[in-house]
Amino acid sequence: MKLVTRAQWGGPSNIGSSANPTRGCVAHYNGGPIGLKDKAHSACLDYVRRVHRMHLGQGWAGIGYSFLVCQHGYVIEGRGLSRTQAAQPGGNTSHYSIQMMVGGAEEPTDAQVQAWRDARAYIRRMRSVSGHVGKHSDFISTSCAGVPTNRLVASGALAGRGSSAPAPGPAPAPGRPAPGPRVDFPLPSGHYFGPKTGPTKSVSGWYGRTFKGRPDYAWLKTWAGQLGRRGWGVGKGRRFLARYGNDGRYGSEYRDLIEAFQRDQNLPVTGRLDRRTWDAAYTNPIS
Ligand SMILES: [Zn+2]
Ligand SMILES: [Zn+2]
Repeated sequence: MKLVTRAQWGGPSNIGSSANPTRGCVAHYNGGPIGLKDKAHSACLDYVRRVHRMHLGQGWAGIGYSFLVCQHGYVIEGRGLSRTQAAQPGGNTSHYSIQMMVGGAEEPTDAQVQAWRDARAYIRRMRSVSGHVGKHSDFISTSCAGVPTNRLVASGALAGRGSSAPAPGPAPAPGRPAPGPRVDFPLPSGHYFGPKTGPTKSVSGWYGRTFKGRPDYAWLKTWAGQLGRRGWGVGKGRRFLARYGNDGRYGSEYRDLIEAFQRDQNLPVTGRLDRRTWDAAYTNPIS
């Protein structure tokens, strides 16, 4: 997937209140013709910034969509994951919104249709979201998402599988082996990295316990660093561990990262960094 983050187009660090949409993805379009067809990709980003300003002008927190997809096949982050939208009243906290960057009777390009699928696959890889694909007019009376895109919704074309599921962040080439060298799981059998309020076998990094000669938090940092080497955006201001960085102290940020990785690797999604999840980062190829 070719992802353009909000930072990359100059958007704010976050937009809108947090939410947990689970019920599917909804297609949108621009309304009037958008005229991007033969333009360079820089024009796509200009358009996104224009929509952002326009939505701000309407008194909204900023651009209203979760993601937008352009004719060059880029997935452009709007509000992104886990945010309330200003896109489909009645579904702004229950569904994700993905705008096809076309308007009027403009037909999306093949790359753009694939990008829409990529965006949906990405959302579903990162969060628990149903496979439902809808359109704006399922919620209110509107022409959105336009005749060409509504046809794609109806035919099931937008529900097609996304491209080969690369890791989020600056994606490395698919099929690469895991970056080495391998680090063995440092905890005793049955232990895992998890909440500090958990039982003894839940190692949080908060109590400075020592395993194999190193403090617990150093081990958790090592593992999250390995995800960084796999191409995941990890650290302060990045997609994961954005607030406190990779400090090795287990909390909701580590839980989110571990769950996202487990989902990506088709492991049981527990939020606990157990031996199996640990090893997957060192042995599974980057898909
Ligand atoms: Zn719409
Ligand atoms: Zn573009």
